[in-house]
Amino acid sequence: MTDDQFDGNACDGAHDGYDAAGAQESHESTANATWSRMLAGNRRFAEGKAEHPWQDPQTRESLIDRQNPDAAVLSCADSRVSPEIVFDAGLGDLFTIRTAGQIVDDAVIASLEYAVDKLHVSLIAVMGHESCAAIDLGARELDAMIAAATDDADCSIEAADQMADLDERIAASDSIILREAGMSVWQAREAELDDHADFERVHIARTIEEIVMRSEVIQDALAHDRLMIVGARYQLESGKVEVLSF
Ligand SMILES: [Zn+2]
Repeated sequence: MTDDQFDGNACDGAHDGYDAAGAQESHESTANATWSRMLAGNRRFAEGKAEHPWQDPQTRESLIDRQNPDAAVLSCADSRVSPEIVFDAGLGDLFTIRTAGQIVDDAVIASLEYAVDKLHVSLIAVMGHESCAAIDLGARELDAMIAAATDDADCSIEAADQMADLDERIAASDSIILREAGMSVWQAREAELDDHADFERVHIARTIEEIVMRSEVIQDALAHDRLMIVGARYQLESGKVEVLSF
């Protein structure tokens, strides 16, 4: 199926006319079709051709008693990164969870599990973005921790010791920004990636790893091919979503 065929239908999986066809597809092809529709919506948005589908009173009324979203999206809370707008989606299309830096906590995991277990979404999209302030803050808190660790050391050997267990110190921090975004920056630098965009990409990859690691519901859905997880990085300048492969 080409993306062009999705034009005009937008993210219509939650709406009449899709379910009958969808029921015959495997979960994997359903997830792929959902992701293709979302990316087609993103292209419309980036080109200034957004259709703003499924936002009319009839759609609202049709969804009073039910919802059947295609995908869950975990994205940054940044005001410029609204998933429904970026993917040109409508009411009932996306189950959206947003925190600064798309940082994962118990509430995020519980929300994703609800989407997978109760709403039967076939796709989770984890979406970071260009110029993410939460990543900046994580980098600043990391630098402050490194500066404090090396300043406290009496000699270069002690300073090296402090740096050797830095990942444990980050993991034990009271700051969730440092534990999550700061750890991503640290791991990116350890892999000799110094570009801010790479910090964002590493953080998206680590966020997906964390979601899988923390949730047996999600592990089970992945093991039984009921779920696909994709990583994406929204680019403020172009309006396009960069699809990440890991
Ligand atoms: Zn952000």
